Amino acid sequence: MKQFNAFLIGLILVVFAGCSNTEEVNKPKYIFYFIGDGMGPAQVTATQGVMALSSDSIGLLDLSFTNFPTRGMINTTSDNRFITGSAAAGTALSTGFKTSINTIGMNADHTQPLKSVSYYAKESGKKVGIITSVSIDHATPAAFYAHQPHRSMAYEIAKEIVDTDFDYFAGGGFHYRKGKSGDLEDLYTIMNNKNYVITDTREGFDALSDTSKNHILFSPVMQGGASLPYAIDQNGSAFTIADYTRKGIELLNNDKGFFMMVEGGKIDWACHGNDFATMVDEVKDFSNAVQVAIDFYNKYPKETLIIVTADHETGGLSLGNNELHYDTRIQYCDVQKISLETFGNMLIDFKANKGSYSELKTIISDNFGLGADAKFQINEREQKILELAYKAYVLDDKDAASKFNSEVLYGSSNPIVTTVCNIINSRLGISWGSNSHTALIVPLYVQGAGHLLFEDCTDNTHIPNKIKSLLK
Ligand SMILES: [Zn+2]
Repeated sequence: MKQFNAFLIGLILVVFAGCSNTEEVNKPKYIFYFIGDGMGPAQVTATQGVMALSSDSIGLLDLSFTNFPTRGMINTTSDNRFITGSAAAGTALSTGFKTSINTIGMNADHTQPLKSVSYYAKESGKKVGIITSVSIDHATPAAFYAHQPHRSMAYEIAKEIVDTDFDYFAGGGFHYRKGKSGDLEDLYTIMNNKNYVITDTREGFDALSDTSKNHILFSPVMQGGASLPYAIDQNGSAFTIADYTRKGIELLNNDKGFFMMVEGGKIDWACHGNDFATMVDEVKDFSNAVQVAIDFYNKYPKETLIIVTADHETGGLSLGNNELHYDTRIQYCDVQKISLETFGNMLIDFKANKGSYSELKTIISDNFGLGADAKFQINEREQKILELAYKAYVLDDKDAASKFNSEVLYGSSNPIVTTVCNIINSRLGISWGSNSHTALIVPLYVQGAGHLLFEDCTDNTHIPNKIKSLLK
């Protein structure tokens, strides 16, 4: 009976395939696959809303991709957990198979490697590029080329690059250049011995044009965890994923076309830190990278496909809170000048120099606008908590630390960062339900050759299967 059912389903699928005029589907020569890590519906809406409210209009302004003709929502759940992680979600988005948490490009019990669409693209003659704003061995990019039982095996993941023969990798760097203990062969040497040229300077980037070699491109300036600096912290010295996408087009363009995966990896990081303004700038930065693909699409509209989606939502972002009820002040996030991560790093020096409480308030006012504007004040209760946080962190006051911990239930390891973060979010009229991922469905936007195929995608695994069908 089971076999008969399988036969019947097969027959129905054949009949359906026959009806859908597959010949009429324009097969793309150029495929862009953008993944906003942690970019759920609220992250996109928030960014659109900030843009609108900042220009005094109520509504949503379009990001580069929000008006793509095919739009949908996809499920992200993993094989063994309702709330997924980047490794399992990345594997689903790259191979079309659900897998277990932390697994990169393998089945759930790690007995079989799974084949990413990037390999199908390579086999079809296309050039392949893998781009990310975080380290190139991080979970999402890794899912497109590596096969390892655990995402933490960054060195082993990176080593797989040389076996891919993929043409272009670009990101923050390697997480462990010489392995976790620093005693293994330098990844730079391993790559150089196998036709990979690593470029990590601005001059090298500008001069890069030799397509007879495979290229790995890293930023000369990195932030924690071998990643590109947050857009909010950028001063122009580091590369952006838009730069990487532009360079990718230059290096990969050829008669047979290319497949390019581009990850906005730090939307997720900002959301883990519940850092709203930093998240908004990351989504804008991601949108700028998509715009580079759209500019290319405008030259070759019949041959280019652009897919934009996310691996999961991070932070449980809610565009409303109990302080402001129906009021929204998300546009005030514009006054924030640095990420909370950079603020945390500043505080390490501040503590070493035993800065005063009033100096701390000046830093907070200068960088986050708190206390500077009538609508952006710190209330009495928050002043008390901030003072406790200051005493706990800067003065190592144990009594203040325990009082602080009883007032504030969760957050980053630095009590001052946690306090400032909570005050900002209250004033903006938003809230976060978590410092981790959530199980929310995430958006999908598709434009270009074959976009209609994606209309019925309701699960992350559907996307690579559609791409595979377009590569045949
Ligand atoms: Zn992720």
